[in-house]
Amino acid sequence: MSAVDEVALAARLSSVREKIAAALTSNGRAVDDATLIVVTKFHSADVVRALVACGVHDVGENKHQEATAKYDECAGLGVNWHFIGQLQSNKAVAVRRYAHAVHSVDRASLVTALDRAGDNAPETKTLECFLQINLTDDPARGGASWADIPAMSEMLLQARTLTFAGVMAVAPLGVDPREAFEQVARASELVRTIAPQAHAISAGMSHDFEAAIEAGATHLRIGSQITGKRPAPG
Ligand SMILES: *Cc1c(COP(=O)(O)O)cnc(C)c1O
Repeated sequence: MSAVDEVALAARLSSVREKIAAALTSNGRAVDDATLIVVTKFHSADVVRALVACGVHDVGENKHQEATAKYDECAGLGVNWHFIGQLQSNKAVAVRRYAHAVHSVDRASLVTALDRAGDNAPETKTLECFLQINLTDDPARGGASWADIPAMSEMLLQARTLTFAGVMAVAPLGVDPREAFEQVARASELVRTIAPQAHAISAGMSHDFEAAIEAGATHLRIGSQITGKRPAPG
């Protein structure tokens, strides 16, 4: 395993931070108005440590096995772990062990499983959940359909051990990301007619975060532009 090039990592991180601040400013928003989640999937725990040393507070992972192992290796780092990938309901208890937030909540059975998995939580409403919206017609992409938004919002609002944070989406390949993020903004409006506090918008990746900021994104999930090319999985 190769050592982390901390200098290059820090340089890419500060360049992305500058671009985020510039995009927020040009949209009339405060420079700290969006949370940067650095997506560390396929990268080692050393990369997470190097990011934390540069002041990163939030990292994102999309596979439970990988996330749980990395979390254990990074014990005591004090970083928030965001789960952003498709999630099976039978992993709900395990994911709650380390996750600060789940961005990929997209069906009733998963809400029920995550909510129940919090039964032993010392306080209620400890896990932040984002309702993932599918912007394509392909159910395999993950995410709730537009028609499911009201019922899912109601359910997330009522969940006893979950905080309903807002909506999440991935812009589909081959479409103008600005159109995709306009749709996400409309989904957020619909959600807030039911759950006014659920105002967060998790949108924007390496190649489209500026468009996401323009459409109101509050949580940016940025990987490769900060971490560099991902190593091959496995
Ligand atoms: C991998 C991933 C990202 C980050 O993608 P980059 O293009 O590397 O910035 C964001 N969101 C989700 C859901 C991902 O799986």
